[in-house]
Amino acid sequence: VPRVVLVGAGIVGCALADELTGRGFTDVTVLDQAQGLAAGGSSSHAPGLVFQTNSCRSMTSFARYTVEKYTALGCFDQIGGLEIATSPERLADLTRRHGWATSWGVESRLVGPDEVAELHPLLDRELILGGFLIPGDGLAKPVVAAEVQAQRAGERGARFVFGQKVVAVETAGDRVIGVRTETDTFPADIVVSCAGMWGPVLGEMVGLSIPLVPMAHQYVFTGDVNASAEALARQPILRHQEADLYFRSHGQALGIGAYGHRPMPIAARDITGSELPFTKEDFEASWESAVELIPALAEAGVDRGFNGLFSFTSDGMPLLGEHPRLQGFWVAEAVWITHSAGVAKAMAEWIVDGQPELDLHSSDLNRFEQVQLAPDYVLERSCQNFVEVYDLLHPLQPMESPRPIRTSPFYGRQQELGAFFLEASGWERPHWYEANAGLPEVAEVPERNEWASRYWSPICGAEALVTRRRVALFDMTPLKRLEVSGPGALEFLQRMTTNNLNRKPGAVVYTLLLDEQGGVRSDLTIARLDANTFQVGANGNLDLEWLAKHAPNDVYVKDITAGTCCIGLWGPKARDLLNEISHTLDVQKGYFTAQKAFIKNVPVTALRLSYVGEFGWELYTTADMGAKLWDTLWEAGQKHGVIAAGRGAFNSLRLEKGYRSWGTDVTTEHDPFEAGLGFAVRKDKEFLGKEALERRTSTKKLTCLTIDDPRQVVMGSEPVFHQGEPVGYVTSAAYGYTTGLNIAYAWLPAGVDEVEIEYFGQKVKARPAQEPLFDPEMKRLRG
Ligand code: FAD
Repeated sequence: VPRVVLVGAGIVGCALADELTGRGFTDVTVLDQAQGLAAGGSSSHAPGLVFQTNSCRSMTSFARYTVEKYTALGCFDQIGGLEIATSPERLADLTRRHGWATSWGVESRLVGPDEVAELHPLLDRELILGGFLIPGDGLAKPVVAAEVQAQRAGERGARFVFGQKVVAVETAGDRVIGVRTETDTFPADIVVSCAGMWGPVLGEMVGLSIPLVPMAHQYVFTGDVNASAEALARQPILRHQEADLYFRSHGQALGIGAYGHRPMPIAARDITGSELPFTKEDFEASWESAVELIPALAEAGVDRGFNGLFSFTSDGMPLLGEHPRLQGFWVAEAVWITHSAGVAKAMAEWIVDGQPELDLHSSDLNRFEQVQLAPDYVLERSCQNFVEVYDLLHPLQPMESPRPIRTSPFYGRQQELGAFFLEASGWERPHWYEANAGLPEVAEVPERNEWASRYWSPICGAEALVTRRRVALFDMTPLKRLEVSGPGALEFLQRMTTNNLNRKPGAVVYTLLLDEQGGVRSDLTIARLDANTFQVGANGNLDLEWLAKHAPNDVYVKDITAGTCCIGLWGPKARDLLNEISHTLDVQKGYFTAQKAFIKNVPVTALRLSYVGEFGWELYTTADMGAKLWDTLWEAGQKHGVIAAGRGAFNSLRLEKGYRSWGTDVTTEHDPFEAGLGFAVRKDKEFLGKEALERRTSTKKLTCLTIDDPRQVVMGSEPVFHQGEPVGYVTSAAYGYTTGLNIAYAWLPAGVDEVEIEYFGQKVKARPAQEPLFDPEMKRLRG
């Protein structure tokens, strides 16, 4: 049994001690600098409201497990959660939240203003337009939950040692071997930092940037209100998100949490206690809104308040996982009470079994690009996240600042063409170009609903049509690119991925990375450039870390994304265009081939593939040659009617062709066969995850749907109903401009027929379709 040291006996440390010992890892020592359980940190004073609904599936799953577990352990009051709307926009948003809850399997319902007033008689009925009730929500008792879980862990052998401040992590080579406190040392094979907002201090001890920011959040106890404590205790916990407020009762008084004040960040190393003195002036606007909503508060007044500290991150998600370069050092930080038990379960599965059951890519510690670890970035984004914590955000809404951060070499040209940029992983990515507003194809795009019209233009449709009819330049630079090289490269990639890479140099292969349970960790397009060099088109930093972690000494895994760039040159005229400006490129070479060539003065690696289902090439060159490549193609393309096209068109084209997007359509929770990627799995070779894959059975399927009404373009995460029952959820969706079909992909039980997608409270009819919807014979791609 490995020796485990957990740093921090807050709710996360206690829950993890329980989950680890429950799985047989009984040699667990929990250290805390404070003198007791949940005594020093955020858990000591959290009011414990648990609202389960979240746009993110894994976050809702964490919360569901927390509710289940704490209820079973007798430290949860399931009094329900009520979110209210006082404006039409928020009312509409509640229907969307209701959709998420349904998609992720949490029972909930929308309620009218009268029922809201009945549930919560203190509210001013006149203000309320409606509510969203989640009967399973309620109040966790954080300190009791910590104690109960610590006791269970203790009974299985865990020990808790207080007054022990960890000051160093001991290592040998690339392994952790223990921790040192001010007075003692504790040997360990596994160390998990559950230090909450002190995470960055622990991270520094092992050379790890922990991108979280401790911030003050105001919490206030009112005086007694004119209602009985029993009546108040029955009222559901309440969220008034338009005013950045939440409420619960404490006896005859109310507790009010406020996010409406200015961000008040503090450096982790400067924290001396987890409660700072109340700054009354920061609460004034919140108090006014609170009294407006609950008039009885005017008389009750404020009894006392404090500025409590806890962690915020740049994307609002937790930080979970293992140090990329120090084996045995794990992190479970930036976790709310709401998600504590669920996170602990996932972490224990990860540590004990090597793999969590849930897809955790959006919480993974290693998800960040280097630029997202810059302290200025982390501070600004985390503060912004504090401001937006209850805001109504569109799924495509980009961050506004700091921008721009990462730009491709084509950025200047894109600006000249009037690119409308959205942002992802720090990259500026054109979604469409205003220069294309005059294209004749524009008329063919149907109108769409208001929500789907945001961050969208009918120009996207025109760009898609031109791609299918003439030729377009797509900037593919932001896609992660790795180079895997060395004498052992082939053998290594063969062992790591599902398809056969043992082909001649010049071959390109679409293949999958599976995890130990046979789930899809990523999909890769790998070009064999020479005997020992492979260019790998990947999905993000997690692929880099995963491959680097598994690579033997004679294999080098290098991120070449920065320093190189890529143009997707796609459309029926692509061949003519390139033929005229390159004598060295063999335009007859077939689909899924790679070659080095020159396009006029620009050296390129040309891959004959396309993510949009059209004939053409991905053209890679070094960043210094990027602008020249763009200009060369642009000039030569004029007589072929070339345009620049953006992500809006791209997404629509890829869904018409049925190409999956890892992270949205497919994750570690899915196996290749149910995801429709079985064609990339070779049964006649060995690869990581193969055995587990052979044992898996499946009853669900990633299903291509077409929606009857072309104007109801859904956005993803909506619930899907079959014969009135929720049976699945939408992953990706887009209007197919060149097929005239309104497309949505969804995880559904195999074999369902007509279904309904719930969208802003309305049921929209959809039906499974044969895929791909476009060019099933691959005539276009093969040219
Ligand atoms: P903590 O409870 O902070 O525990 C970390 C522990 O690590 C501490 O005990 C600390 O002493 C120890 N430690 C740190 N460094 C060292 C070291 N070097 N050596 C030894 N020990 C160390 N969440 C909700 O879900 N619902 C709510 O309603 C809610 N309301 C909140 C209201 C307020 C006012 C605040 C401040 C927070 C609220 N939260 C809420 C957030 C929630 O409290 C935290 O996210 C959660 O408690 C974090 O738990 P933790 O175990 O990670 O951290």
